[in-house]
Amino acid sequence: MTAMKLESYAAGQWIGPGPDARAIASAVTGEEVAIAGSALDFQAMLDHARFTGGPNLRAMTFHDRARMLKALAIHLGERKDRLYELSLHAGCTKADSWIDIDGGIGTLFVFASKGRRELPDAHVYVDGGIEQLSRNGTFLGQHILTPLQGAAVHINAFNFPVWGMLEKLAPTLLAGVPAIVKPATATSYVAEACFRMMVESGILPEGAVQFIAGGTGDLLDRLTPQDVVSFTGSAATALMLRSSPHILQNSIRFIAEQDSLNASILGPDAGPGTPEFDLFVKEVVREMTVKAGQKCTAIRRIIVPRAVEGDVIEALKAKLSRTVVGDPSAEGVRMGPLASLAQRRDVLEKVAVIGQEAECVHGDPDAFSVEGADAKKGAFVPPMLFRCPDPVGAASIHSTEAFGPVSTVMAYDALDEAVALANRGGGSLVMSLITHDPDVARDVARGAGAWHGRIYINDRDSMGESTGHGSPLPHLTHGGPGRAGGGEEMGGVRGVFHYMQRTSVQGSPNMLGAVAGTFVPGSKTFETDRHPFTKPFEELQLGETLHTKPRTVTLEDIEHFAHFTGDTFYAHMDEDAAAANPFFPGRVAHGYLLLSFAAGLFVEPSPGPVLANVGLDGLKFMKPVSPGDSIAVALTVKRKTRRTDTYGEVRWHVVLTNQDGETVAEYELHTMNAYAGAS
Ligand code: NDP
Repeated sequence: MTAMKLESYAAGQWIGPGPDARAIASAVTGEEVAIAGSALDFQAMLDHARFTGGPNLRAMTFHDRARMLKALAIHLGERKDRLYELSLHAGCTKADSWIDIDGGIGTLFVFASKGRRELPDAHVYVDGGIEQLSRNGTFLGQHILTPLQGAAVHINAFNFPVWGMLEKLAPTLLAGVPAIVKPATATSYVAEACFRMMVESGILPEGAVQFIAGGTGDLLDRLTPQDVVSFTGSAATALMLRSSPHILQNSIRFIAEQDSLNASILGPDAGPGTPEFDLFVKEVVREMTVKAGQKCTAIRRIIVPRAVEGDVIEALKAKLSRTVVGDPSAEGVRMGPLASLAQRRDVLEKVAVIGQEAECVHGDPDAFSVEGADAKKGAFVPPMLFRCPDPVGAASIHSTEAFGPVSTVMAYDALDEAVALANRGGGSLVMSLITHDPDVARDVARGAGAWHGRIYINDRDSMGESTGHGSPLPHLTHGGPGRAGGGEEMGGVRGVFHYMQRTSVQGSPNMLGAVAGTFVPGSKTFETDRHPFTKPFEELQLGETLHTKPRTVTLEDIEHFAHFTGDTFYAHMDEDAAAANPFFPGRVAHGYLLLSFAAGLFVEPSPGPVLANVGLDGLKFMKPVSPGDSIAVALTVKRKTRRTDTYGEVRWHVVLTNQDGETVAEYELHTMNAYAGAS
């Protein structure tokens, strides 16, 4: 085949390979499939991101950007076959590519959905509640997040050219920050094809994304404190890059996701014959062989009760011996080659190190069969299983990551020893525990939580729907302490905040409200001559308030409500028992009665733009209401969020006060309101 000439995308231009371009070989045949390495003006790229991409993205709200991610996901989904084809050169079976390609597209969808559900249709994210800093409430504090005004430089690993790119792009773009993507050269032809689809879609604004096929030159030395580096790869490269004086002097954010000696523990309860034993064997084999073990989350250390060590090894060997290795496009092949010959050399060197402390019980790299390909020309290795006789005394099995289908069995006597062994990895992305005993789950999570970014617990109850030890999910944090890099990615909207600055803002309620785009209690309110329930979504204004007339709560009301609903709790029905309760002066009105009366006071009953009451948040009953007291309601427009083309969500601040002006209850009501002409 003719080698693909990979292009960079810099400042809106496609730029082909330069004189220093590198050849990239097929992992299966060793033939040259692509060349990459453009000569680029990195300052111009950063300027394009800072002065074109950033302003374009920041002009959009979180919801605009979320809709953009969804459109992008749909666009890529319609073109993914080409990416599957290209991934064959990288040694990926269809199942491997599914994780990379469909997994990446799925991640875009999840962020698109979370962005619209969990972030406001606004430019600023309000983090947490108002802090009362003064007695009379005229001076308050709150935290806000705004997008960084620089560029995010994404340096990605070779093993997931699509997912690795999209799982970083989704939170970055949702935050409103432009990205410069640098894929690992070995599989950059897959990343480039996917990136090109995104640019050609026209969905992203100018400057939102740029692409480097090849090296980063002096890019990192040109970064400023408004830029972020998000890196995935080896610990050695991460250390080299993050410890550069320029990065350190400027406190440039550096998110790292690197090597990880992930462990899986078989619980003491899960012996042969239990569903958990079979599940454990299946998960370990899957983690060893999917992507030929080239997953940052793969199981490298298999920690099992000493009594069943032999059974585990036999069961693993039986399954591993059925793994057909070969050309991923050949019929029946379950495991392809490593991504490159360099990667094979690296894995075999690491295997030799592991071999000094552990015996190989399965898999000989000098003698194994390869289906449909030349074992010497492609980067093939067999699955290799080791057993370490003295895991407590050993060192390199806990620190050497052979980034391939390689894992070591180690036995434990007591559960705390298993936990200690798992923690010897020095910080991992994920550890798993297969047990049906909740006490074991509790003890392991308490003992191991601090050392692992994710703990995956599985048993007979969850195995039918579980997502797999090795699958980082966009909803959950991906990253780990120490050896794993100390970074965090994804984790739902938490991942978006890595590309934003948290700022505490102090001021009066009016000032904080203006900054956050929301009504802050204590700000100025106003009334209009029309009931707010008669106004379409667009006409409602923040701070607009309806003050109702008062209503007296009688003993008959309380008794009627008690018998009608069945809530005859003593505090409402028994004067002596209620008076003996330190919270009540005697019989009091039900909280739910007050809520119902509040609705009765503030609704406008005629058909109109209010479509539905969809819930309430933050309900607090602050003072009891006794028979004879009266209540009145203030209903204020607090926040408005567009939802569809025909309606939006209105959040109302609702305050119930008594005849003395004291607040008796407070909550936030959510309604769906139609736009003008849509009701
Ligand atoms: P590297 O750390 O060498 O490369 C990772 C990324 O960093 C690639 O995009 C690479 O680009 C880039 N890079 C390398 N040097 C520089 C530099 N000086 N400046 C800027 N960018 C740079 O890892 P490899 O991909 O070679 O894999 C090596 C080992 O890393 C594996 O064997 C495995 O142990 C570990 N690894 C861990 C992963 C994880 O997810 N935790 C994933 C992949 C690997 P280029 O390709 O152009 O050199």
